[in-house]
Amino acid sequence: MLKNRILSGVQPSGDLHLGNYLGAIKNFVTLQKEYECFFCVVDLHAITVWQDPTKLAQKTREVTAAFIASGIDPEKNTLFAQSQVPQHSQLAWIFNCVARMGWLNRMTQFKDKAGKDRENVSVGLFSYPTLMAADILVYLATHVPVGEDQKQHLELTRDIAQKFNNDFNTNFFPIPEPLILGEATRVMSLRDGTKKMSKSDPSDYSRIMLSDDKDKIIKKIKKAKTDPLPLPSSIEEAEKRPESLNLLNIYAALSDTETKKIINNYAGKEFSKFKNDLADLSIEIIAPISLEMKKLMQDRVYLDDIMKAGKTKAIKAAEPVLSKVYEIVGLSGEK
Ligand code: ATP
Ligand code: MG
Repeated sequence: MLKNRILSGVQPSGDLHLGNYLGAIKNFVTLQKEYECFFCVVDLHAITVWQDPTKLAQKTREVTAAFIASGIDPEKNTLFAQSQVPQHSQLAWIFNCVARMGWLNRMTQFKDKAGKDRENVSVGLFSYPTLMAADILVYLATHVPVGEDQKQHLELTRDIAQKFNNDFNTNFFPIPEPLILGEATRVMSLRDGTKKMSKSDPSDYSRIMLSDDKDKIIKKIKKAKTDPLPLPSSIEEAEKRPESLNLLNIYAALSDTETKKIINNYAGKEFSKFKNDLADLSIEIIAPISLEMKKLMQDRVYLDDIMKAGKTKAIKAAEPVLSKVYEIVGLSGEK
């Protein structure tokens, strides 16, 4: 029987941060034991906003290095760059014709990223979710581990799969399930507890990067915004104090513990002590990843070989799916 299949992606749109690690990559590492996994560096998504062409390939390598340094086995799983597998874009066009304008108009990520400049952002930024649906469904993936911010795009993917199946009277596409796991499914900015930690946030102090050294991690956690009160004593209290809850969730996720337990341990204590402990824990987890990433980045040939092998495996899986879709839709070409 076909093992359940995973597809997930990370954009080479900037330096990877703790949100990417706790919301996505850390879970990939666990899930690789149970699932057949396709992990993709989604460079076509990255260019929905401007990317420096002289740096994009290097950033793509960096995400690959982060996957491997975090513990993803490059032999067992398929690691590749989205742009190298043309079937993603081909299926995305078909999904552009399945998805409805009204569905895409509801996407909150577009609203957040476009802000007040809606008329001036790329068409790609608007249609991004149909490409994401294609990324997933071109492998007939059944499960998609993502951070909480991607939940709405996953729902759209499910709607697209369902509508395609209905429109063409088939059950060809599975309806993929999101896997939103751990205690830090939405890591917030260290400067503002109501904003998600993001690669594209202009403030360096808003996020801890996987490439940050010890001193930077200590500085950023020390400077992280909190309130003047001691640490909360209950989940209910923490929920009213977003910056505190964020740091507690990060601590819980890094230590594979429930947030409730961390709250019990630190209830009523001063933030200075908690922040010291959080910095130590962050360094313990991130420093080895950061070191391994640096080592891997020295070996360009190794990383490129992995991506080449991944591309071949990915095309082998995607090509027959796309052919079948063409047949279902009646796009017969010269046949
Ligand atoms: P960008 O700001 O360019 O969109 P990003 O930081 O959101 O970058 P992505 O490459 O879009 O990163 O997302 C990669 C994965 O990391 C996705 O599964 C996403 O849900 C997850 N992720 C991103 N930010 C966070 C966060 N703050 N907390 C938890 N998961 C996150
Ligand atoms: Mg994002």
